[in-house]
Amino acid sequence: MSRTELLPISPVDGTQIGVFPAATPGEVREAVERGRATSLAWGNTPLRERLRLLARLRAIIVEELDAVVARVTAATGKPDLEALAGDVYTTLDFIAHYEQSAENYLASEPRPSHRLAPHASFRVDYEPLGVVGIIAPWNYPLQLAMVPLVTALVAGNTVVLKPSEVVPSVGALIQELCARTGFPAGVVEVVQGGPEVGEALVDARPDKIFFTGSVATGKKIAARAAEQLTPLELELGGKDPMLVFADAPFDRAVNGAVYGAFVNAGQVCVSVERAYVEAPIYERFVAAVTEAARRLRVGSGRAADLGPLIRPAQADLVEAHLDDALAKGARLTTPRERVGNGFRPLVLRDVSHAMRVMTEETFGPVLPLMPFRSEPEAIELANGTRYGLNASVWTRDRARAERVVRALVAGNCAVNNVLLNIANPHLPFGGERESGWGRYHGPEGLRAFSRVKAVMLDESTATSEMSWFPYRATSYEVVKSLIVAVFGEAPALAKAGAIASQWLGAARSLWRREGSAR
Ligand code: NAD
Repeated sequence: MSRTELLPISPVDGTQIGVFPAATPGEVREAVERGRATSLAWGNTPLRERLRLLARLRAIIVEELDAVVARVTAATGKPDLEALAGDVYTTLDFIAHYEQSAENYLASEPRPSHRLAPHASFRVDYEPLGVVGIIAPWNYPLQLAMVPLVTALVAGNTVVLKPSEVVPSVGALIQELCARTGFPAGVVEVVQGGPEVGEALVDARPDKIFFTGSVATGKKIAARAAEQLTPLELELGGKDPMLVFADAPFDRAVNGAVYGAFVNAGQVCVSVERAYVEAPIYERFVAAVTEAARRLRVGSGRAADLGPLIRPAQADLVEAHLDDALAKGARLTTPRERVGNGFRPLVLRDVSHAMRVMTEETFGPVLPLMPFRSEPEAIELANGTRYGLNASVWTRDRARAERVVRALVAGNCAVNNVLLNIANPHLPFGGERESGWGRYHGPEGLRAFSRVKAVMLDESTATSEMSWFPYRATSYEVVKSLIVAVFGEAPALAKAGAIASQWLGAARSLWRREGSAR
């Protein structure tokens, strides 16, 4: 069978960017086997040594900063600043964050003892899982491969990464950077290819799959991983709402909407995909957003705000959402103008939830704006899709902000801001509903790449325990009286606790005497 080759094209000028041989299913299995063979040694490598290698990776990226940015922009066409800030800065920030915090996050945690074994100590350990398979998307091809990769390595796992077939040159870049860092053989494996290589990676039974991508693919991977019950984390799409109340800081909200909708040309899982604006300021808000959007420059390099759509077919989805919305009565307030594989920023008004653009992820430079009349209506509209990734609430009324945040079905919320909430590496990140399963980032994220092991350490000298065999005729009454004392309403719980622990002490010494008499 001839080997499949990936022939990616530049989204800027359509020229081919190299030839990348795809891995065969056998090579994917071998990569996972190499990862497994190395996983014990890597997992037993002291955390400080693992972090030392990651610090070296960080230093290499900084040394090669412009070259790394150039590789990302060549593959994606995004403006230089977006590659620098969205892909490179975030990657470096997470490495630096783990250098500071990983020791704490992964330290064993003592837990309180329990009345049935007051003599024992209890703790939770965070151990490596083994081999983690990472399947990455194309929109932030460096960040969304590197942050999970780095997290998995810090937690002591080896990694098999499958970058997106749309941007294999960034996958190759990651491979080169890891090779220069000097990770031991088998710690980081990169397998290039499309969906079938992703499927082969799932079938190769890594100890965990970490997937970032679309809802449709997430469902397929979940079904496949379920056959082996491979643990899975899914970071999927979003239809993130922005709720603008009449008392919001107006200019800040306008600029926030424009940035949130058009950064990375709207190809962000947490971009503002729909904005709801309180009726009294709706017209003024639409006019101000339209004006600000018209000022954005489309292109690439350092003098552009918006790049093209990275994946060729993405433009078709944007066109389809526009056609559907316009046919159902929406109006564009900006020109419908293609620029290469991209668009000038598109602002839509008079939209409704009957339109795809308000309920399905568009993942392009489109900002639909809809008025609302009350807080309950705004909440109902915001929660009215199958997604639940990020959301933002804009108001000067702190009590209202807290109320609305609480009512939103979303994994992440920002008040009077967009997107910056997800850049804080201390916070967990993930989605609700069809936006995904699980959390990464923050302590939760590092522990998501760990085996959470509950440990009991018993140094008792007694030969048996009250609850062990043999069951005595009196045992039922003894346990019953304990239940009444501890869980009953009277006497007061504190007193009951004292009674129970006295009783336990007596029972234990009885057992100990019995044990030594045998
Ligand atoms: P996609 O689902 O098409 O592809 C993602 C990856 O999955 C690619 O590497 C692809 O080759 C692989 N893949 C495709 N089919 C597969 C299969 N059957 N089995 C195994 N692997 C398979 O997504 P995309 O178009 O690359 O990325 C865009 C999507 O990603 C958007 O929906 C966006 O919202 C989402 N996304 C989510 C987050 C997040 O953190 N929640 C971040 C970025 C992007």
